[in-house]
Amino acid sequence: MIEALFFLAAAVFPVGQGQPLLMTFPEESGVKSMQLWLETKKIPFAHVQGKWETIVGIDLDAKPGEHPAEVAVTFGDGRMEKRPVTIRVEIVKFPTTTLRVEDKYVELSPANQRRAAREAKELDAIYDKWTPEILWAQAFRSPIPGQTRGSNFGHRRVFNGQPRAPHAGADLKASTGTPIHAANRGRVVLAKNLFFTGNTVILDHGLGIYTIYAHLSRIDVKVSGIAEEERIIGLAGATGRVTGPHLHWSARIQGSRVDPFGLLSIE
Ligand SMILES: [Zn+2]
Repeated sequence: MIEALFFLAAAVFPVGQGQPLLMTFPEESGVKSMQLWLETKKIPFAHVQGKWETIVGIDLDAKPGEHPAEVAVTFGDGRMEKRPVTIRVEIVKFPTTTLRVEDKYVELSPANQRRAAREAKELDAIYDKWTPEILWAQAFRSPIPGQTRGSNFGHRRVFNGQPRAPHAGADLKASTGTPIHAANRGRVVLAKNLFFTGNTVILDHGLGIYTIYAHLSRIDVKVSGIAEEERIIGLAGATGRVTGPHLHWSARIQGSRVDPFGLLSIE
């Protein structure tokens, strides 16, 4: 009964919009696997050091309030038990900037629109695939050692009265040529030039967690290789749709847009 009581006591998980949520449950005899069923998502848990663990991504536009979910526990004998949990999403105030600019700065040519749409599909296909195991090796670290925070995450921009997609990453100060490190161990799933984000590297850390490094002047990794934690994956730059050199660093967790710096507080 102690385990059941623990479950009840831990049943409400508070988390801010655009933040990762670490969920852990103690080991139980006979349990083969666990998943969190949250809306249409079935998020895998990994079995690590005597506990079950996952990191759940809460999108920056997630509806504030209580989201009922279930932990589906599968036992070795095939039995499945569903245990209710609640994720309580708390409002985070993101800044909004409204500006008027000449249309030519916000409108893309038909060729660029087609390219951007094709690449958006390619990215969605990557984020939709969740490696069911942990590939990371240590706590997440900033890709630029010493910079422990970025700016602009969640920033909403309205150009000429039209709302744009919110800024889904964090911007880090960097001059061209600044070494960019893998935030953690992961598999390289994309390493190429994209229309918006220029030279881009995406790492798969497992359990549906991806980190993205954009506007690089140089890429130093190849697709399908493993980037060990802290290895240099490229150099900062100003490629893609930018006005100057910086690192745009973002995270997708089970498809949700999450502040990558939120990962740094997870051990
Ligand atoms: Zn940015």
